[in-house]
Amino acid sequence: MKAILVSRCLLGDPCRYDGASRPCPAVEVLREKYELIPICPECDGGLPVPRVPCERRGERVVSKDGRDLTAPYRLGAERALERAKESGANVAVLKSNSPSCGVGRIYDGTFSGKLTDGDGVTAELLKAAGVALCTENDLTELLSRNDARE
Ligand code: SF4
Repeated sequence: MKAILVSRCLLGDPCRYDGASRPCPAVEVLREKYELIPICPECDGGLPVPRVPCERRGERVVSKDGRDLTAPYRLGAERALERAKESGANVAVLKSNSPSCGVGRIYDGTFSGKLTDGDGVTAELLKAAGVALCTENDLTELLSRNDARE
């Protein structure tokens, strides 16, 4: 069974900064066809649940209370890449807009709820390593393209 990485909060794990999850029925359906490899880069990088929300500012990640948390974000990204290599996953379904997992659009670093173009830290690293990315919002399109390639 082909492995794909999936953001843990999309599988119902309450690992978000606010202690909530974002379960997604369309992601759950993937279990029928794929081995799902759950990742939460923020937890895997050593951050607690709950935690102060963070946003990317360029290459840095800062918390709403003004701390530079770039290091745990990078560690979590490296762990996600290790999981991809170990499992052979070349596709990841990641939670939209997150400073770790967001694909194409993330919060803009002002903590005002505004989005800007860009990837989360983990999404960026996985993409650079050749992993195809999508979010819970566009996973059908990406997976159909990926299946067609095999
Ligand atoms: Fe979900 Fe990713 Fe945030 Fe973890 S780091 S809570 S998997 S969006």
